[in-house]
Amino acid sequence: MTNNIILEMEEYAKEKNVPIMEKEGITFLQNYIEEKNIKTVLEIGTAIGYSAALMSLKGAKVTSIERDNERYEKAKYFVNKIGLNDNITLIHSDAFDTNITEKYDLIFIDAAKAQNIKFIEKFKTNLNKNGSIIIDNINFHGLVGKSETIESKNLRSLVRKIEDFLDYLSVQTEFKYEKKEVGDGLIILKEA
Ligand code: SAH
Ligand code: MG
Repeated sequence: MTNNIILEMEEYAKEKNVPIMEKEGITFLQNYIEEKNIKTVLEIGTAIGYSAALMSLKGAKVTSIERDNERYEKAKYFVNKIGLNDNITLIHSDAFDTNITEKYDLIFIDAAKAQNIKFIEKFKTNLNKNGSIIIDNINFHGLVGKSETIESKNLRSLVRKIEDFLDYLSVQTEFKYEKKEVGDGLIILKEA
C-alpha cells in the first residue's frame, strides 16, 4: 500500500515535471536519518511531499514548507493517503516569510537553488546542537562548474549562484562541510 502511493507520487512528479529527489539521493537521506538517529527534520521545499514522506517513513517527524499552492495541496493529499498526517506537518508559505522557533536534528534545503546562503542564514538558528544541514542539487544536472558554457541567461545565472555558494562554503568558517556525489549532489554542513 505505502509502496503504491510512493510509486503514484513518482509517476505524478514525472508527468507534471515536479523535481523530486533522485532515488540515490533520497536513499542516502533515509540511511543518514537511520544512522544518525535523526528524530526531527525541517524541510524547505516540500513539492508534493515525496522526500518528506520517505524521510518520515524512517521514523523522523518532518515539518515542511512549500510556497506553491498546487504542490502544497497535492502534498496534503498524498500525506493523508499514505497515513502520515501525525508525522508530517505541512506549512503553506514562502520560507522567507515563515518564522519557526523549534529546533531540528536535520534541516533539509531543497528549494530555490539560487538562495541556499539565504536559507542557511535564516534557518541556522533552528538547528539542534550537533545537527546537520543538507542541501540538494549541488551539481544541478552536471552543470555546476560549467556555467560559462551555458547559453540561456537565466540558467547560467542560476548555475553561477550555485558555484558562488560552493565558493562561499570554501571561505566561511562557521560550518564544516562535505560534498556527497549521490543523486544530483548533496552538501552536508555541521557547525564547526
Ligand atoms: N523536496 C522535494 C522537492 C522540492 S522541489 C522532494 O524531493 O520531494 C523544490 C520546491 O521548493 C518547489 O516546489 C518550490 O515551489 C519550492 N520553493 C522554492 N522556493 C521556496 C521558498 N522560498 N519557500 C517555500 N518553498 C519554496
Ligand atoms: Mg532537489
